[in-house]
Parts: sequence; C-alpha cells; structure tokens
Amino acid sequence: MSDKKYYCGIDLGGTKIYAVIADENGQVIANYKQKTKKSDDKSDQTTNAAETIIGRLTDCYHKVIENAGIDEDDIQSVGIAVPSSVDITKGLLKYAPNLGLENVPIAKLMKEQTGKPIFVDNDVNMGIYGEYTLGAGKGYKHIYGLFVGTGIGGGYIVNGEVIRGVNYTAGEIGHMVMKIGGPQCNCGRQGCLEAIAGKIGIINYMKKKTADGKTKTMLDEVAPNWRQSVGSSALSKCYEAKDKVVRKAIKKSAETIGIACANLINAIGVEAIIIGGGVVEEMEDIFMPIITENAKKYSIAGGAEGVAILPAALGDNSVALGAAWFTALPENKKFLL
Ligand SMILES: [Zn+2]
Repeated sequence: MSDKKYYCGIDLGGTKIYAVIADENGQVIANYKQKTKKSDDKSDQTTNAAETIIGRLTDCYHKVIENAGIDEDDIQSVGIAVPSSVDITKGLLKYAPNLGLENVPIAKLMKEQTGKPIFVDNDVNMGIYGEYTLGAGKGYKHIYGLFVGTGIGGGYIVNGEVIRGVNYTAGEIGHMVMKIGGPQCNCGRQGCLEAIAGKIGIINYMKKKTADGKTKTMLDEVAPNWRQSVGSSALSKCYEAKDKVVRKAIKKSAETIGIACANLINAIGVEAIIIGGGVVEEMEDIFMPIITENAKKYSIAGGAEGVAILPAALGDNSVALGAAWFTALPENKKFLL
C-alpha cells in the first residue's frame, strides 16, 4: 500500500466491458477491455447470466489493476456503469434486456468480490458526469448530454446533481417521440428520436431510400451488411465520397438531433448541451454545425442565446472515467455502498 489513491471505473456495455483506473487528478492511467460475451461461450445457457457478468466484471477489475501496475489496496472505490435504469440507493440494476439481466444487486455482488465501496448507475448518466467534471462540460452548472450510438441516450445535471427522476428514467431523450407514426423503435413504439436519428434511424432511412431496388449506395461495396449494422467509419467514408443516400441520411439525423436540442432548450433551459457517441465523434465537423443551426432555428425566440452546444471531449473513456470519478469526489461519498 502506498500513499497514492486510485479509483476504478467499469463500463458494462452490450458488446464490451471497458475498465479504467483514474488517479487523484482524474487522469486515466490504465485501461482494460474485454467482450461482454465470448463468441464460443455456452456458459450463459448453463449458468445464471448475472453470475457470468459478475465474473467478467471482477475479471476486468483485476486486469485493469494489473495493467496499471498498482497495489489493489490503493483502490479507494469502484464505480460501475450499466445499460439500465438503476436504483442507486441499492445499487440495483433494474432491467437490461441486451444482457438478459433483471433486478441484479450489482453493488452487493461486486462488494463481495472486491471488498471496496461501490457505486452503480446508468451508463449515460456516468458518461455525462464525466464530461461535466472532466470534459467538455467543465465550467457549466446546468448541462444536458446526448450520446448518439446505435440508439440515443441522454443525461441531465443541475448544479452538480445528476437528475434521475422518480423512477430513475429521467433524461431518456432517445425515446421522445419526434414523429407520430414514424419508424419502428426497439422500445415497441414508433417515431422515437433514436429510431430516426440514432444509427438505427440512419439505417432505417437508407433502407427506405434504396427500397425501390434502383437507388444505389456505395455502402453496398464498403459495408455490404449495412442493413443489419454499419460502422461509423464506413458511413463517414461514403459521406466524404459524396454518396447521396448516406449524405441525406446523415443530414436527416443531424437535423433531427438539432430539433431535439431545441426541444430540450424549450423544456428545461439548459446552459450547455454536450453531444457525444461514436457516430457524431466520427463525423463531428458534419454533425455539429447542422445540430447547432437547427437547435437555434427550432427553439423559442431567445431560448438558444448563449447556450453552448459542444462535442464531447472524453471519447471512449467518458462512461468508465465518469463512474470512477463520481466515486472519487467528496460530495458523492454518501452514495457509495
Ligand atoms: Zn423508442
């Protein structure tokens, strides 16, 4: 044991688990990544899904400490971010359909494994907390974060407090209905923001545009499976090559996100909106001006004045670092379990 203090943050995602160690200044000194489910893994069928995930989280915890070359005794606390609403008073993951998990007491189970104080929260909440304390949101008090990936997640902070809502579902802007009778969303409803503007929405739009069988897109060569899933870099490549279908789809996505930002400005009067996630980060120069233009155009007169609309600054680290750093700050000690 040394006199140094370190904090561990773990981002449990649908495809990968990503862990970091942060030092006392909020600097990431090591990371470690592994797949959430191994491709040859049959264990999920024979054992409990929760047990398997706890095993992997514990494994990541030990591996990232090893990568950092530090003494485990110097780890002060562990923050865990999960793709679910979370009852933070119990460290209870409520429902994560992608992982087959429901009502899992993550904090209790991870405390048994590590012996450290634990905090568990929703992944987007922790991502925006990271941006608020260490990234693009530094210096602002009242911010909203919007992460655009396959879907769209949101998080909301007022005066340093993460607003979680009475049922721990506040900030879920991805399922705000933007178009009545619009594209089908994974949540079961239609016309949600993410079904129009998330990567799912971009694919939906391009499928519709090429449904006549005559309209072609470069994606057919660049990413032949694009109808199932497509990488942000493939979209960026086709956009740069002036592919009409991709250009229209990206512009539509950016425009819709801009309108969602206008709705946020109108509803809650935020000081800054931070926009992150793989798709936007890959094409920041394309997305940000269109988002900003539409946020101004569609908000009430004067509403957008002085409101900063900024790209996220922490990249892949935001969620795990946000979770680690949440546990590090004195004002949050009361939340540790
Ligand atoms: Zn939805």
